[in-house]
Amino acid sequence: MKKIAVLTSGGDAPGMNAAVRAVVRSTIYYGAKAYGIKQGYHGLIRGQIEEMDLSSVADIIHRGGTKLQTARSEEFMTVAGRKRAMYTVEMFEIDGIVVIGGDGSFKGAQKLAELGVPIIGIPGTIDNDLRYTESTIGFDTAVNTVLDAISKIRDTSSSHGRANIIQVMGRHCGDIALHTGLAGGAESIIVPEMYFDIKKVCGKLVQGKNRGKLHSIIILAEGVGDGIETAKRIEEITGIETRVTILGHIQRGGSPTAYDRILASKMGARAVQLLLEGKQARAVGIKGLKVIDVSLSEAINGGSWFNKEMYELADILSL
Ligand code: ATP
Repeated sequence: MKKIAVLTSGGDAPGMNAAVRAVVRSTIYYGAKAYGIKQGYHGLIRGQIEEMDLSSVADIIHRGGTKLQTARSEEFMTVAGRKRAMYTVEMFEIDGIVVIGGDGSFKGAQKLAELGVPIIGIPGTIDNDLRYTESTIGFDTAVNTVLDAISKIRDTSSSHGRANIIQVMGRHCGDIALHTGLAGGAESIIVPEMYFDIKKVCGKLVQGKNRGKLHSIIILAEGVGDGIETAKRIEEITGIETRVTILGHIQRGGSPTAYDRILASKMGARAVQLLLEGKQARAVGIKGLKVIDVSLSEAINGGSWFNKEMYELADILSL
């Protein structure tokens, strides 16, 4: 394998840059040429590809976003679009591609692999919604960003004796809400994976207020629904003033945590090794301290397991 290309696709996540750096530097270390594809599959279709050297990934390990930029490509979802993408692969004589992205990007990678391109996926998404791996790149940073926001909102919430709903990202997955809820000592965590009983949430609020609690934090995963609507219902039931903060894209940015940088570095290096070992259509992941790899289809169809034990623990500790 002489030429290995890397792209970032779908939603950006802090740590993608560290993964790109690891792919480029490992490729060069093992004696192959490294290429960067701009704007994910969109750039692959348009031939936005260039050789990368050691210095082209200097000074990016600590930066959020992705130097290669990312995109969502409707065209790549079509057979004709993927044919065009193959034209770029053939013209630049690319021997293998590393795709950094979420489940959608992995589906695209699988389709490209079916056309005969050796491909390895690296999970890069803040949502943590790929179940074959314990963590995706960007999740830890997003959790820490939300935690910082919780601390700040808690200060103002205490001063006014209000309840606060903090709406967090994660699409259909409640992991950001679950982890930030436990780590941030939230009174209630509302996630799509668990039945949501508004009466229980309100009961906790009233109970807390009656024993002199100054603040109440409710973490709401975006996959459940609208924070503003939920706040209205809580106010109606309890009479407690309830404010809403929708954190939005702030969760996608920022310098990646040490955990995400290390995870990205390990995964990037392993992805290159797998290509050099002749492996194809695999996805790297993490289990404990070990970097693992599974087939792309296993990675995509990993199910929607939810950590109920952790959810129950958060419930017990927020009595
Ligand atoms: P995130 O989880 O952060 O949203 P993602 O990788 O899941 O990231 P998507 O927008 O779902 O983001 O997918 C990224 C791109 O992958 C799409 O714009 C499309 O080009 C490609 N893709 C997604 N699903 C498919 C599919 N079934 N077939 C071919 N290509 C796909």
